[in-house]
Amino acid sequence: MPWVDSLKEAERVMVICNACRYCEGFCAVFPAMERRRILSEQDLTYLASLCHNCRDCYYACQYAPPHEFDLNVPRALGELRMDTYRVFSWPVFFSRLFLRNGLAVSLITALSTSIILLLAFIVQGPSVIFSAHLGEDAFYKVIPYALIVIPMLAWGLFILAALFMGFITFWRETGGKMGDLFESDAHLRALWDALRLKYLDGGGHGCNYPDDRFSHVRRWFHHLVFYGFMLCLAATTVAAIYEHFLHWGAPYPLWSLPVVLGTVGGVGLLIGTGGLLYLKRRMDRIPTTPRLLGMDVAFLVLLFLTSLTGLALLVLRETPAMGILLVVHLGVVVGLFITLPYSKFVHSIYRYTALLRNAIEESREES
Ligand code: SF4
Ligand code: SF4
Repeated sequence: MPWVDSLKEAERVMVICNACRYCEGFCAVFPAMERRRILSEQDLTYLASLCHNCRDCYYACQYAPPHEFDLNVPRALGELRMDTYRVFSWPVFFSRLFLRNGLAVSLITALSTSIILLLAFIVQGPSVIFSAHLGEDAFYKVIPYALIVIPMLAWGLFILAALFMGFITFWRETGGKMGDLFESDAHLRALWDALRLKYLDGGGHGCNYPDDRFSHVRRWFHHLVFYGFMLCLAATTVAAIYEHFLHWGAPYPLWSLPVVLGTVGGVGLLIGTGGLLYLKRRMDRIPTTPRLLGMDVAFLVLLFLTSLTGLALLVLRETPAMGILLVVHLGVVVGLFITLPYSKFVHSIYRYTALLRNAIEESREES
């Protein structure tokens, strides 16, 4: 559905909801909608990212299908959200990666794994890849240090720039004022709402996910994914400090900080992504946004494979399987890294931005 059509449908459902207001206790979308007499394109875009797709309003709605109004709020806002990812991405050239995202992410990951494997064979040779390597710098005997760090560092800077541009564009295009970005109290409030996934609790009962029964299970799996990801990021950061400032080469002992953080984070990611994928298989498809499905699944599978190959590498790092496992793990990580600003990951940036705006509006209403 093109951008204009998804805006029209979001406007249609929100106008009906604004007259009804039955669902105002479920999430922040309905109170934010009620603050507005007229819903502009900017407002609708903001509301779409404020929606956490808990689906409570779909199962509560007397106008949902088969009613002739055919009201499906999660799907209408999901369609608009999908267009937001594409329209606000930076640089614009890469926005087409959102069109068939699942396929693009799979191809890029397969390609990056093949290139790393080929480079390792050319530079080091098969005998090095299929031998056991022990002690400090064992990983770099398979893949040279510079080959890992320099491209990752360069792309990491690009990712930061792309995500920052997406954040600023979303803020500006949804009517936010630049001066409001410096409201520290609003940032704290938005962060608190994001860190506990406040709007996945449906006003206390939980989501209607994967079906019409209330449940908190999706929220807990989502927490495992988020905090698992953050712990893995912390493990990589600590390992980089060890490497660059203390000159301790990887792999590190089992009870070292990077290994403990990475193991706990990896297990959390594995359970969280596996659980979310399982729920996706069982979910009711009617409130689903079909265009978002491929992107959701591709991102979850990539995170699942990253943690699985990382944990396998930890267990088998002193065996001859280490070389090939390292290549596969790096290939998946590079695929995840390359596609990060053009994957489901961007929802965290836009949702945080919407929560920030909501926090500003709520605090102004209270004062
Ligand atoms: S989703 Fe349905 S029940 Fe809920 S506010 Fe909108 S029209 Fe009313
Ligand atoms: S799906 Fe959930 S978060 Fe989205 S508008 Fe409905 S109640 Fe709110």
